[in-house]
Amino acid sequence: MINLTDLTIKDAQSLLQAGEITSVDLTQAYLDRIAGIDDTLQAFLTVTADQALAQAQQADQRLAKGEHNPLLGVPLAYKDVLCTKGIQTTCGSKILEGYRPPYSARAIENLDAAGAVMLGKTNCDEFAMGSSTENSAYQVTHNPWDIERVPGGSSGGSAAAVAGRLAPGALGTDTGGSIRQPASLCGCVGLKPSYGRVSRYGLVAYASSLDQIGPFARTVEDVALILNVITGYDPQDSTSMNLPVPDYTAALTPDLKGVRVGVPKEYFIEGMQPAVEKIVRAAIDQMVALGAEVKEISLPHTDMALPVYYLIAPAEASANLARFEGQRYGPRISAGSMWDTYKQTRGEGFGPEVKRRIMLGTYALSTGYYDAYYLKAQKVRTLIKQDYDRAFEEVDVIACPVSPTTAFKIGERVDDPLQMYLSDVLSLAVNLAGICGISVPCGFDADDLPVGLQLLGPAFGEETILHTAYAYEQSTDWHTRVPEL
Ligand code: GLN
Repeated sequence: MINLTDLTIKDAQSLLQAGEITSVDLTQAYLDRIAGIDDTLQAFLTVTADQALAQAQQADQRLAKGEHNPLLGVPLAYKDVLCTKGIQTTCGSKILEGYRPPYSARAIENLDAAGAVMLGKTNCDEFAMGSSTENSAYQVTHNPWDIERVPGGSSGGSAAAVAGRLAPGALGTDTGGSIRQPASLCGCVGLKPSYGRVSRYGLVAYASSLDQIGPFARTVEDVALILNVITGYDPQDSTSMNLPVPDYTAALTPDLKGVRVGVPKEYFIEGMQPAVEKIVRAAIDQMVALGAEVKEISLPHTDMALPVYYLIAPAEASANLARFEGQRYGPRISAGSMWDTYKQTRGEGFGPEVKRRIMLGTYALSTGYYDAYYLKAQKVRTLIKQDYDRAFEEVDVIACPVSPTTAFKIGERVDDPLQMYLSDVLSLAVNLAGICGISVPCGFDADDLPVGLQLLGPAFGEETILHTAYAYEQSTDWHTRVPEL
């Protein structure tokens, strides 16, 4: 008997197409597993069981008519910063409790049209600000490999759901590492597309010049299948690029002959967990065995990424979050005058990390400080981008760790924001430069916690990183390990 929740998207699709399983069976199997295990993992904020079964029935009808589409009838989970028509979308914040958007994000509309089934909405750090999902106003998500540890963040619910086999694939968002870091910490695959590759329409904005939506799954091929559907130009996102959309699965070939891989010396930092470095270096050796040409490179402005990100992202957030004042969305706490109502609603609705970011951002943008902080950060951002531009003249792909450590204990970093920010020291620069990156499982530390290999490509170089990640993945069995739950 096949265990339906063990199937990859690719395998489930073959069985669906052959009529050997139905989407209703598959969806019910996931709903049952969510009902059994999500009390422990707390990956979902909302489970949309009835709607999921209705969508699955429709998918079965389309399958019965012989329709071919790789995601037809496949259940997926969506991070709760993505608008879903008529379904509560909280962004992990009390300020949006009960908010039901009048439309769905473009990426989700595309998935709906392809016949994917929504299982529910996943937990995340409030407005995607965080690295552990502990900043959610609702619940703490647990890492499937060790439930005393965090799943990473901010898309921790999506990563835990995929790793814990509560969904075969999911969507997350990545502003400074929020897809790649939780994928690394949960031992699944996560891809951050280039800026402009996926429409941000219907993604509740955190830092608009950095945010991108991207897929999680258990294999590189499954990630490519989801990317195929969510990618493309959208007139409703003026920053989405009008470029041809390739079939990303066509890039997935098993050897790395002639692929030039750069290993940036600045990405093996002091304080990194020695096991992470050892495991990532072994993965790079494996890429050599597959035919890659590896050389050391330098990205000299790497250490500027953290301070630059923590000026630009909060600056944009402080503007984006001004819209939440209790008039248009979510609960309102009335307090006499309009200004008092704003103060009361925002004071009670936002959590401490969101308030810290709004204050940081407002400060960086204020008269007298704008030039010293925000403007200077933008100039250094250009230098960071130029580092990558130069590197990609010499190499096709950059290989490095995603996170300096494996999953940390719940509660360990919550009282130390700087320590938490350092979780993303190896992932932030990618968003500042607008390039693409993927995390693929590459081993386990002595505590049996997963480690991710980060592969970076130039803007719109998704095919290259998918190819490299696929060839590496297929030569290992890390992606086949299952956490005991
Ligand atoms: N951890 C980073 C932050 O808190 C990145 C979050 C993200 O990518 N959404 O801002």
